[in-house]
Formats: sequence, C-alpha cells, structure tokens
Amino acid sequence: MGNALFEIDEKVYRRYDWRKQLFCRTDMDPSFEHYKQEVYERMEEYLKENKEGYERIDYALNMAAWKLYEMFKHIPRDELHNMGIFHSGDNLPPYEVEDPKEMSKIIKKVASFFGASLTGIARINEKWIYSNDCQGNPIDVKDYKYVIVMAIEMNPEPMGSSPSVTTACSTAIGYAKLSFLAIHVAQFIRYLGYKAIESINDTGLSIPMAIEAGLGKLGRIGLLVTPQFGSRVQLCKVFTDLPLEPDNPQGSGILDACKKCKLCAIACEVGAISFDDEPSFKVQSPTNNPGVKKWYINPEKCYNFWYENTTDCSTCIEACPYSRVKKKNPHEFWGL
Ligand code: SF4
Ligand code: SF4
Repeated sequence: MGNALFEIDEKVYRRYDWRKQLFCRTDMDPSFEHYKQEVYERMEEYLKENKEGYERIDYALNMAAWKLYEMFKHIPRDELHNMGIFHSGDNLPPYEVEDPKEMSKIIKKVASFFGASLTGIARINEKWIYSNDCQGNPIDVKDYKYVIVMAIEMNPEPMGSSPSVTTACSTAIGYAKLSFLAIHVAQFIRYLGYKAIESINDTGLSIPMAIEAGLGKLGRIGLLVTPQFGSRVQLCKVFTDLPLEPDNPQGSGILDACKKCKLCAIACEVGAISFDDEPSFKVQSPTNNPGVKKWYINPEKCYNFWYENTTDCSTCIEACPYSRVKKKNPHEFWGL
C-alpha cells in the first residue's frame, strides 16, 4: 500500500490523534501556552509601528482572503452534502463505471476545471487517517476506498517578502481556493451516486497521501515538494468509493536533494527545521507523530513565531529553490 515510499517503525507508529495538532490545542487544550489566543491578537500594536508589510491594507487583504475558508469550516458536513438543486442526485442509480482508468481521467479533468493545479489518486492507507478529530471522536473511513489529493499552486505574486502579512495573503487565499475545490469535486462525485467526503486539514494527513498519490516527495521543510511548484502548494482531498485507478509512484517518498541542501533550515529564524544530514526517527516535539523516518520539524517553535509575527510565515517555502519565489519587498506587490 505505497509503504515502500516511507520507512516506518511499525512498533512505534500509531495513527495521529488530531488533538495533538496545534490549531486543535489552541481551541481545546488549556495547558497549551496559546490556548484561546488568536494569531492576530497583536495586530493593533503592529499597526502603530507602521512597518512595511504590516500595514492596514495588508491586514485587510489577509483577513478578507481568509473569509471563505472560515465559512467553509463552520458549515456542518451534512448540510454541505444536501446543498444544491438536485439534492445530491440521491434518487438516481449510481453512474456505471466500466473503466476505472477512464474515471480517474474524468476526475482529474473535473479537479482541474474547479481549480486544481495538480491531482493524484491513491488507495486509502489507514495509517494516515487521524484516530480522532479535535473533539476526540474516532474517525472511520472504512466505507471509502480511494483518496483524490489535489494541490493548488500558491499565488506567487504576494510572495517574496515573508514573514510579512502581504506574503501571508497567499496562504489565506489558498485556503479559500481549497474550500471551493474540495466542495465541488466532492459534489460532482455525489451527483454520480457515490460517497464523497471533502477534507482540507481535517480527517487525515494530507502530505503522505499526496506522496502516495504521486504528487511529489517529502522535504526537510516538512512539506510536500512537487516538481512543478516546489513546496509552494496547498493540499485538499476527497475520500470516495467511486471506482478509480490509483497513481503508482515508485522509489522513496523522501526528497534526496534535501540531504545536501539546507536552505530552508538556514532561512528559518527560530530553528524549527532540522539541520541533520539524514532523515531519522528522532522527533522534535510532542506534536510530532513518531515512527516514520523523515526530518521532523518543531511545530511549537514555528507557531510561536507566527504568534509573535501576528500572521503565518512562508520564509522556508520562499527559501526552497524548487518553489522559485523571487525576493521582493511588500510595497512591490502593491505597486507603491
Ligand atoms: S513557517 Fe517560518 S517559522 Fe515556520 S518553519 Fe517555516 S520559516 Fe520557520
Ligand atoms: S530548501 Fe532544500 S532542504 Fe529545504 S525542502 Fe527545499 S530542497 Fe529540501
């Protein structure tokens, strides 16, 4: 099941409990130092400094770009499935799939129509499905067989001035695009009479699924590195029982070039990325999920920096040569 792509210590590896993830902990874990704190909390202080890339127009654009994703997150899934004039085509018999290979081509076309830059298909590997959601409810996708993993290219235009708020607009609008993409691809499948669950960061680990779907490899940076856009991508996925033919990537799922290149680790000013030459089983924080050989990053160090910075950061993505991002100052984006 694609496990040759990763070296896994089966005695150690367990499905990831999503309650360990930092965004869940900000909501649910009173012991977490950023419990109930918002990354934007210190925005007013920053605004007084009038610093380039942290001005009112930057924050306004950033928060506007998050809007659709924020709405998507709060729509109950059942409601989402029943939206639309055909009520999911429930009363029609399922579309007959004679050739799963052809159906895969159709799905990739549909994904591209709705904005995917890259699409791959893998058999669901239960290892990558979270054991629990944020509230501690067990997650079970046994009725689903395949995962369609879609990447969108992050808009390079505001990038190049990380960690500014201007650059962070690229991440925010990316989440809006993922919401749009995942909803529509899942809905297409439901109209064919099959099951579909749309997912962004919830339900399972997108990166190993993307690697098993042939979209790229795991870099030192802790992100998917694609041949087309480097790590300058964001991921969503749809779980389904629609008959499909999975992609079949070969070789290691770890990017070999990262053994020599350490540009992302050098660029990260809080030391969240490993400098080790070789990937290993050595975890960096309680948020990590042990048992896979890779370069573990330290998400706490990263998140603390985001909190100080009042927004997320893409400095490591910009530093990766595969991302091909040109350095610029925030005013260049605005043409000021
Ligand atoms: S996002 Fe920023 S803080 Fe986090 S690992 Fe990358 S460079 Fe470091
Ligand atoms: S910057 Fe270099 S080490 Fe980091 S992910 Fe990209 S290729 Fe790998």
